[in-house]
This record gives sequence, C-alpha cells and structure tokens, in this order.
Amino acid sequence: MSQQGYVATPPYSQAQAGMGGYSTGFGNPPPQSHYGAYGSPPQGYSAPPTGVLKPPASSPSGMPPPTVSSQYGANIQQNGAHAHSFAPPAASAPSMSPYGQPPQSVYQSMAQAPPPTQQLTNQMSSMNIAGYGQRPMQSPLSSAAPQQFQTSPPPAMGHPPPAMGHPPLSPPGQQPPSLGSPPPMATMGSMPAPPMGMTGPPGPGVHQPPLGPQGYQQQPGSPIAGPYGAQMAGPQMAGPQTGAYPGGFPGGPSQMAGPPQKKLDPDSIPSTTQVIEDDQAKRGGQVYVTNIRGQVPPLVTTDFTVQDQGNASPRFMRCTTYSFPCTADLAKQCKVPLAAIIKPFATVPKNETPLYIINHGETGPIRCNRCKAYMCPYMQFIDGGRRYQCGFCSCINEVPVQYFQHLDHMGRRMDLYERPELSLGSYEFIATLDYCKNNKPPNPPAYIFMIDVSYNNIKSGLVKLICEELKTLLDRLPKEEGAESSAIKVGFVTYNKILHFYNVKSALAQPQMMVVSDVAEMFVPLLDGFLVNFQESQAVINNLLDQIPDMFADTNESETVFAPVMQAGVEALKAAECSGKLFIFHSSIPTAEAPGKLKNRDDKKLVGTEKEKTLFQPQRGVYEQLTKDCVAQGCCVDLFLFPNQYVDMATMGDVPSHTGGSVYKYSNFQVEVNGQHFLNDLRRDVEKSIGFDAVMRVRTGTGFRATDFFGAVHMSNTTDVEMPAVDCDKAVTVEFKHDDTLSEESGAVMQCALLYTTIGGQRRLRIHNLSLNCSSQLSELYKSCETDALINFFAKSAYRAMLNQPLKTVRDILVNQTAHMLACYRKNCASPSAASQLILPDAMKVFPVYMNSLLKTPSLVGSTELSTDDRAFHRLMVMAMGVEETQVLLYPRLIPLHTMDVSSESIPAPVRCSEERLSESGMFLLENGLSMFLWLGQACPPDLIQNLFNVPSLGHLTAEGSRRDNCRGVIVFQQTSLPVLDNAHSRKLHSIISSISQQRATSMKLLIVKQKDRAEMLFRQHLVEDKGLHGGASYMDFLCYVHREIRQLLT
Ligand SMILES: [Zn+2]
Repeated sequence: MSQQGYVATPPYSQAQAGMGGYSTGFGNPPPQSHYGAYGSPPQGYSAPPTGVLKPPASSPSGMPPPTVSSQYGANIQQNGAHAHSFAPPAASAPSMSPYGQPPQSVYQSMAQAPPPTQQLTNQMSSMNIAGYGQRPMQSPLSSAAPQQFQTSPPPAMGHPPPAMGHPPLSPPGQQPPSLGSPPPMATMGSMPAPPMGMTGPPGPGVHQPPLGPQGYQQQPGSPIAGPYGAQMAGPQMAGPQTGAYPGGFPGGPSQMAGPPQKKLDPDSIPSTTQVIEDDQAKRGGQVYVTNIRGQVPPLVTTDFTVQDQGNASPRFMRCTTYSFPCTADLAKQCKVPLAAIIKPFATVPKNETPLYIINHGETGPIRCNRCKAYMCPYMQFIDGGRRYQCGFCSCINEVPVQYFQHLDHMGRRMDLYERPELSLGSYEFIATLDYCKNNKPPNPPAYIFMIDVSYNNIKSGLVKLICEELKTLLDRLPKEEGAESSAIKVGFVTYNKILHFYNVKSALAQPQMMVVSDVAEMFVPLLDGFLVNFQESQAVINNLLDQIPDMFADTNESETVFAPVMQAGVEALKAAECSGKLFIFHSSIPTAEAPGKLKNRDDKKLVGTEKEKTLFQPQRGVYEQLTKDCVAQGCCVDLFLFPNQYVDMATMGDVPSHTGGSVYKYSNFQVEVNGQHFLNDLRRDVEKSIGFDAVMRVRTGTGFRATDFFGAVHMSNTTDVEMPAVDCDKAVTVEFKHDDTLSEESGAVMQCALLYTTIGGQRRLRIHNLSLNCSSQLSELYKSCETDALINFFAKSAYRAMLNQPLKTVRDILVNQTAHMLACYRKNCASPSAASQLILPDAMKVFPVYMNSLLKTPSLVGSTELSTDDRAFHRLMVMAMGVEETQVLLYPRLIPLHTMDVSSESIPAPVRCSEERLSESGMFLLENGLSMFLWLGQACPPDLIQNLFNVPSLGHLTAEGSRRDNCRGVIVFQQTSLPVLDNAHSRKLHSIISSISQQRATSMKLLIVKQKDRAEMLFRQHLVEDKGLHGGASYMDFLCYVHREIRQLLT
C-alpha cells in the first residue's frame, strides 16, 4: 500500500458506504476504519509516489510529484515559503520545475536564465511605440487625477519581472540596451507605422466613438520602433489604407478616414495564439500538483491533469493573481483587481479523482468557533493535538474529543493523510440536520417542464419536437452515483394565456388536465400526481407527450403569460417541499393581461445616450419578487426562448439569471434549421451535474475579505451567495479587498463553502480551499497574474456596471484601468528604459487584446445595428461564465483546415483572429464557445470542397436554408449541415468539430459562410484583432492608444 501513489490508492470513500458517494469500484473498506486505506504510517508516503491518478494511462511524463511529506505539514507556511526544504523531487520533476523552486528564492530565479521560449516571448512582450500625436479630444484619462506612483524599487532586487534581462528595443536614436541581449527583432527591418490615422467612429450607426482609440489622431510620420523594426522614420506612411475590411461591409470600415498607410507587420505585437501554444508546450500533458502556495496554474487552454495536494484545482478556483499585495495601498496603486473565479461544480476529467465525501455523523464537520471556517489543511494543530489554531482568524480552538489525534515529530497529525479535510484542497462533508431547512432532510429535487403552446410554438413544430424529445430524455435524468434510477421527480405544464396542469400519476390510464385561468392568483390545482417519478409514470407521461401537440394543434392563441408560469412552478415546488428547476419553453413577449405583463420598450434612439443603460435594466416589481420567491424555495429557472421579435430579454432573463439558471435563445426558430442546436442544448442542460438550494460563503484569512460577487446569483445580505441551483458551468467571480495588512509569511488563504442539496436529496457541504502568496513587491503580483482570470473579472464587473452607468463611462473605466495597471508595472517593476517603449508584464502581455475584444462585445459596443435583445442576452450569458468560457469568447479559435493533417489526431494549431490570416484559397473553422463558423475562401481547393460537401466546387454549394433575420435585418444564408462522407477530410473535420463541441458548455450551431457572402459579416465580427464591425478599435490601434495613456500617466 505504501508504494502506491498518493491519489492512486483507494480513496477515502470507504467511509461513505451507503452515502451514495464514490465507493463503487474502490473496494471494500476495512471494518472499523473510516479512512482505512490510508492507515499506513505517514512515512509510507515518503516513497516517491507515482504521481498520477491512473499511472500508465495518464502519466505523460512519468515523473513523480514531490513527496507527500513536502506538502503542508503542521504549519501552513511550509506550503509556501519553505516548500523547498521539503521538495527534493522538484529537480527531478520537470513538470514542477517552474514552480517547484521556492517562490521566495531570489538567488535561483536570478541565476537561471529563462528558457529560450521565455526569451522569445519576453522579446515579444517588449514593445516600443514612439511619438503620438496630440491628445485626443475625449481622452478617458483627460480628467483623471494624476496617478501617484511610488519610487520604483531597485529593479535588480527582489524578484525580477520576466521582462527584465530582456530589455525592450531601442527607440530611434537611442543607445541599444546595455544588458547584453542581442537587439531583438532587428532583422525585421523597417516597417511603416501602424494604421493609426483613423478618426471618428467606423460605422454609420455609431453615435459616439465607442472607444478612445477612435478619438485620437496619430500624426503622420510618427516613428515606430521596437518590434516593428529597428528604426522607423514615419513619413513613409504611404500606400493604400489597409483596413481589416477591404470589402466594405455595411457598417464596416468603408468610412474609415485617415491617411493611407502601409500594412504593419501584425506578428510584431504579442500573440494570444502564441502564448497559448507556448503554455501548452511547456505545461501541457503534465500533472499539476497543488501543493505549493501561490503557484500559478497552467492556462485554461492548456491540457493538464490536476492532483490535489492541499489547494483546490484551478478548475474550481482561479485567481487574477496568485500573489496578493501586502497592503491596500499597493493594491490601490497597481489597480490590478484581486479576485477569484469559483466554479464550485466544475466538471472533473475522468482521469482526476472525484471529490471525497466525509461523514462525521451526527457531530457534523469541525468548524472554527469564531469564523466558522471548516476543517482544512490550513488549520494548525498544537498542544499535542488537543487544540488547533484557525488558519483564517487565528482563533485557538479545542479539538473535539472524538476528533483527537496525536501529532508526529513534525507537529502534524498522525492521521493527516487519512483525512481528506486535513490534506486536500477540495472535498465534501455530509451535512447534518442543522444545515437543512426546518431541520428536516430535504426531498429530492423536481424538474418541471413548462411548454408555451401558443400559435407560434405550435406552428413552428417546436411543441412536437419538445414532446418527442422528452420521452427519451427523461430516461437520462442525472442520478446519484451508484443509484439505479434518478430521484428527480418530473411534472408538466402547458400554457398560453392560461395554464394547464397535468396529473400523470402512475395509476391513471390517461393523464388528466386541470386548467387555471385566473393567472393573477396563481395556485397549483393538484398536489398528488403532479410531480412523479418518471420510471413509475412513464406510460402516462408518454401518453401525455403524444397528446399535447394534437390538443393545441388548432390553437389561434398568440398571447402568452410569463410571470404566472414561473409563479406556478415555485408554488408547485413549495407544495412538494422540494427544490428544483423549471424548464420554460417560451416564444414571445408576454402581453396577455397578467402580472408581469411586458410591453415593447426597445428604443434604438437611446443607444449612445445616458439612458442606454435602461435598455438592459429589467422591469422590477413582479419579477423582483419572483426572484425572491424562487431563491427562498430553491427554484432555478431555465428559459429557452424562441423569439421572432423583441421580447424584452433583459426582463425575461432576470429571474433565470438570479436563480442559477440559464437562458437560451433561438431567434426565428425553425425545426429544420435550429432544431438540432436546441435539442443539443436541452439534452446537455437536463443531463448535467447540478446541485440545488445552494448557499455559498467565501471565508478569508485576516487582512482581506470578499467584497463583491458576480454571477447568476442572488444576494440578500453581503456575504451569502444564494443559488437555487448551481451546475457544472456556472461560475461566481468574487472580488477581494484589503481591510488590513497581509503578511508575506502567512499568505492569503481562502475557503469557499457551498451548502447544497444533491440530486438524490442529500444535504452536503462542498469545500474548496486555496492559498496564495502575499508580497510587498509589486513585481511578484505582476509575475503571478492570470490574464484569463483578469479578463473574466473585468467582463463581469463591466457587464454589471452597465446597468447603472452610461456605457461610455464603463468603457472608459476599462481603458483607464488597463493603462493604470500597465503604467504601474512600468513604473515599479520594469527596468529603466525610454518612455517611448511599451513594456508589458510577461503574464499580461496579451491582456490588451482581450480587453479590446471585451470593449467590442455586443453588449458594450453601443451600436444601433445590434438588437437590444441580443445585447442583453450576451450580457446575461457572460455574467455566469467561468474563465474558460470568457477566454474563448473574447479570443475565438480560428483553425485553418486547408492545411490540416488528416492522419493526425489533434486539432490544427489556431492562427491569430484577424482577416490577415485568412486566405482566398483557405478554409477556416472559427469557434468562440457560443457559435461556430466554417469559412470557405473563394479559391478554396475543389477537391477539398468535394471531399467535405460532395459537390464539385464552391459554386455548387448553395444555401440550404435561408431566412430573414429580423434581429439583424439581413438575409442570412446558411448551410448548417455538413454531410458525413467516407473520406479522410470529412472524417477529420467531423472529428475536430465534435472534439471542440465536447469542450464547450453550450452547443454551437455550425454556420457555413462563403467569402464575400453577406453572411460573412456574422463571421467577421469575431475576428477580434481587427477593427470592430460595429465600432471599436483594432488590436494594433488599441495597443498604441493604451501606450499613449501609459506615457501620460508616467509623466
Ligand atoms: Zn477561524
């Protein structure tokens, strides 16, 4: 047993016999032992463990992780500053080496030259853009108070930021850097200046410059140096303006003013695809062991395996930086947000260990008396094991008698490795009755399917589609591990202006309908027989599902109610004393006389004005109260919308977005066009792992605390995050603020505790712990930043702010803060260099491209060409997203297919998201987690077309479905089906698409667009490095603008 890897041994689950846990397949527990498998003495673990969960299959390197004795011992500090003294295997474990060295070790990091890839990227990160024109008329910063910067510490001290030692390029006329690097990029030669001469907004419909960059003018002739070329005199800016859209789409760049310029080499600015590729090369396929405090995880795009050794997996918690500044002053100075993005139910890959479930019986989990934190690796046992000091509030607690254990010579409990709560970052406790409503164990949750049977939904064939699907889908309801069938009860309601409830009790020969026409006073007309077990009532339910489409086949009713439908759902759950989820399939704005009646309040004239925000504010009153009722009952609402016109998405999506629910939208629904897309979403939604009636609390160590929460959540006080349901895709972004000074020694610890009801009706506590470093050196903070997490925070905070502030203000704040963060780095962390050089922290070097993309998102861009509902929908979706989702949304993957290697298993390496990267003879797949496009160049090779579409040339490829898209007012030609053909190209493409789809939270409809087709616009708006179709700067312009702002801040 002692030879086995730490996690490879039978887990702790033996204690959960009968708990519905993960005991299946892990063998029988030794009697009398709660955690018997770990009963061997701790020294047994000092043998190098295998380091992988399933050794041969998932061991990419075969390298052992650090011995277990190197993880947190009795003292949490061993987890961080002193980790090196326990980490002999670090040197022999390449996967650990970048982080295996002691985080505080100055000598090591100074002595070692960065690996070659790092050098390259550092060079890339060092930019130099000189000589801007006059100030913009409307600079976001023009009225800002000058930022006070501290004198920068001697750059060689402390922890040199990655950019150091790789000085940026020399601007024109300057001495080359003296630090010994060869002049990077010198071979690139001269290049003309970037196209910075554009003025004014790009499109006709934009009332205000959506972004700063349009507001400033670049004087022709400004020299550009650095990555653009060694020495560049400006006046060569001649030649045609090369905008991103030479075709001149409506609303596109045909209006772009400015002097004609030559193309700038786009390779010269930091590349997201390169950063992703580098991280994959460096850390991909490796085991990420979570035993080091403040360790920065691989990027979300990197493929890695997590081994929990005391900190939560980055799949559950990711931070904007893994080194918090010690003081509030430092935090304020750098303006880098301190936040964690928590996805408490994140899907864990099959080769990683599921969470252990701990049962302390009637006594329940051990908690600190003062701050109520749960037992975790950060508690330090003292006094021979009789007492412990809380790692969060430092309170000394007595160890309960039944929990007592002796300490070893290191001061660690002898049972350290037998108890998940002492050695792991994430685990679950079975909750006692104290954690249940009314001190009663909860009933299993219920799913209620509520189908709008008004004219539109009947006519489109939607009702029939849903009913057919449910017959098989309900057989696949999620069930507790090991359970034979799902404990989730199901119920059915149809409605238009009135509601119909169905009795589907198994004893009935035929389902019975009960009508409620008084929608003002909603009540549930039946209790017995409404919520049933699907297996028991299958015959009656199938009978009902067969009948529903026929019953309403001749309906003329086009009016619907909406709020009373949700009210009915809540009342039904209330009567059944359970939590659950409503699946509402709805078509139109609810105009029927009833509570929550809505009217069309869309007004494009508000776009670009102070009042634009009102378009996104939900109507209060009825919906606000409904949210409260839903939260109190643990009722989550999922809304599937099938609108043909404006539906007031902001209001209709309000309850779902505060109850842990999801909103799906299928405009102009046609079964043959988007039926499959909808069914894929519905299936995934019904089947996904989920918890109910959840309350989340984030506790922190002294010196800082959680101050703000962003997500599909409800807050009735300042600390408890209430979620009627939380599923594997929902993430809550938590912002932290200082309330005191943090110490480098103790670091910053946090614990997320989620109390919830399982799908089987068991009350549990899911705990995620994470420990970060603290430093009084800002360079440490910048070095430990996580760009993907940062952008998630900015997206969510901006999307919430836009409800209360003019969009222009929100955009200005984002740009302003970007410049501040980078200026502070420059001032305090970078080696001295000319002001004309743009120097970006290595960990944030692609932050500007993400930020610029965020500014161009439909919600923030402020264009009258976008539908208000689409913008509101986008906003609601992003609010619930995790880091993976915001990453790919803001920097889509653009995958070249014409060069794909059909014999390879892997997805071709994506290229930068810019028109520059497309080619007439090419074929590209673009995906952003929400949509997928197959773009076909005009000169696409006929044999490729033949292999993929079974037609001889592109000209033979006609649109299968065409329709008028009312939301955008353009004809959208789309072929959404890709035939499955028996050749290598077709198989390869289908395998790429299916592999991408499996990674994403929502199903993506494939849209096939041909170059120069009008539908190409839909595709091009996702080329985020280019100038925005609806406004917004190109990446290059944005970078230049930010650099200018930085220079202003530094003078
Ligand atoms: Zn405490």
